[in-house]
Amino acid sequence: MTMKLVCKNVLWDKRESYFFPIPEFMTYYGEKLPTPKWVESDAICISAGEIPSKMRIIPRSMIVSIDDEAQAPVAVSAIKTLIVQGDKGKSYVVTINGKLKTCTCTGYSFRRTCKHIIAAS
Ligand SMILES: [Zn+2]
Repeated sequence: MTMKLVCKNVLWDKRESYFFPIPEFMTYYGEKLPTPKWVESDAICISAGEIPSKMRIIPRSMIVSIDDEAQAPVAVSAIKTLIVQGDKGKSYVVTINGKLKTCTCTGYSFRRTCKHIIAAS
């Protein structure tokens, strides 16, 4: 079944720096695909047409409508930022945005999780 997704255009905010007109919204059509494990944020994956292995990953916060049904905007207030004290006296910034959790420590950059995130959750 083909879905129709209308999304905010990421270039819209920077439209003044382009010589060609930037549309505010983009419309994509594709088959809904399962979201791969490595996609960290809450996103919808659809096939990108011609090339079967290609897919588009669209974060829910960018989606305006699905099959012409308007989607409730994701509240910005859902993003929480916490300062977590590490054991060597350093402090790290943990950001929690729904299911997406990030940390500024080096452990996070390798493992995509760390004790600061666990401590902040
Ligand atoms: Zn960390």
